[in-house]
Amino acid sequence: MSHSQALSFLRNYDNSSNYQTETFTSNKGLHLEEALIFEQDTPGLTGVDWPDVNIDNTYLGNMRRQSINLPGLSEPQVIRHYTRLSQKNYSIDAGLYPLGSCTMKHNPRLNEKVARMFSDIHPLQPTATIQGAFAVIDELAYWLKTLTGMPAIAMTPAAGAHGELCGIMTIKAAHEAKGEGHRTIVLVPESAHGTNPATAALCGYSVQSVPANDRGRVDVLALKAALNSNVAAIMLTNPNTCGLFENDIIDIAKSVHEAGAFFYCDGANFNAIVGKVRPGDLGIDCMHINLHKTFSTPHGGGGPGAGPVVLSEALAPFMPLPYVVAIKSGYEIKESTTGLNLGRLKGFHGQMGMFTRALSYMMSHGKDGLKQVAEDAVLNANYIQAFLKNNMTSAFESPCMHEALFDDGFLKGTGVTTLDFAKALIDEGYHPMTMYFPLVVSGALLIEPTECESKETLDQFIGTLKYLAGQAKQGNADLFHDAPRHTPRRRLDETKAARQPVLRWKRG
Ligand SMILES: *Cc1c(COP(=O)(O)O)cnc(C)c1O
Repeated sequence: MSHSQALSFLRNYDNSSNYQTETFTSNKGLHLEEALIFEQDTPGLTGVDWPDVNIDNTYLGNMRRQSINLPGLSEPQVIRHYTRLSQKNYSIDAGLYPLGSCTMKHNPRLNEKVARMFSDIHPLQPTATIQGAFAVIDELAYWLKTLTGMPAIAMTPAAGAHGELCGIMTIKAAHEAKGEGHRTIVLVPESAHGTNPATAALCGYSVQSVPANDRGRVDVLALKAALNSNVAAIMLTNPNTCGLFENDIIDIAKSVHEAGAFFYCDGANFNAIVGKVRPGDLGIDCMHINLHKTFSTPHGGGGPGAGPVVLSEALAPFMPLPYVVAIKSGYEIKESTTGLNLGRLKGFHGQMGMFTRALSYMMSHGKDGLKQVAEDAVLNANYIQAFLKNNMTSAFESPCMHEALFDDGFLKGTGVTTLDFAKALIDEGYHPMTMYFPLVVSGALLIEPTECESKETLDQFIGTLKYLAGQAKQGNADLFHDAPRHTPRRRLDETKAARQPVLRWKRG
């Protein structure tokens, strides 16, 4: 659908509020209400024929359990229950997923095919029988070190936040080995992802916030003023969470090193620069890579993910165990410490399924293709920013990297908030963008299209945002305050849901 077709389609959309939403069954169209599996219980009903069991009661005494409280259902009931639940889950396979900071990109089916080749091995098998898996880990490590321009890598961390933990623990160990354990401060810019200060605090550091300037970058003068002999590290995201490249990063690295501190780079946004910039050339000491963002692989809902950490010469001796090493006859796994290594951060060698998916993605794109990933991701975000600049308010003037950031200036005086706007987007069939993050921007709306969306998809999305921004400006606040109107559940009390979650079903 072209941009203008998308708009006329939306103009013809019937907004009348006498829309019939209640039905006899509570189902809506083919969206079915689904009771909990325990509520569908017919005691004694089962999908299989169990043989009678004769248990000697005297042997168990009065310890014998009378029931394990499993609900009774037929096989078709169970299949339908779980299939319906799976259909309630919005996913990247279902449509555009513009959540800024999350990099929800298409996961090629090839990745899945390759990952399944490794699905029936176990990390405790004799190493001679899993040489192929070690070769994959080693090859992926090679690509990641090459793409980042860094000499060493810890492959085991299981996610971005886990990679941060690995990196900051490594930095702490390096300071302690130098007799500089007195360094107690970690500097974190105010636009940082929440995991950065959380990681520093978990490692026992006190977090000192560094302000942003009016261009959405770190205030370099404030940063330099904060550096002293008690600072252990800075944690900086590049491109940062405002979707902007930190132009002063080389100068920042120099100052951080002069103060005897380490430079931790949050590499979650690596997809915007992969193949274009090598973080090692910018002077960083340590960076985690979210394989599940930059190199496709499915994620969300708490996992799975993988967060390998590249390390400089200075930090490499402290990396966690175990790690794979190439020897003459193949590969072996290094389990014992040199006295400096961190020890284990994870049970085994890392997230094998994510490793194979990421390597499959890299190899199918190749060197030139990975460069184009970054270019297309940045182009798509700028396309959105440029086409919406007269309808919504860009948080910063300059072109963006991989995500377009808007503030709520365009909603001023309309009685519509960022939250209302996002809810109206759901009625239009879109998963909302990231809202109210980063915190440095008022009522932030952060949109990350990734490289995989087509111009047609972007045009339709842009058309929808223009329509909604127009409705807000024309005073149609009810459209927003009533939203979402077409979902099985309407506006929820999100605070109550977070503070008083009902996590346990009790028989009524
Ligand atoms: C996603 C993200 C993280 C955390 O990564 P997880 O894999 O979700 O733990 C950290 N920092 C930034 C900037 C991110 O976008």
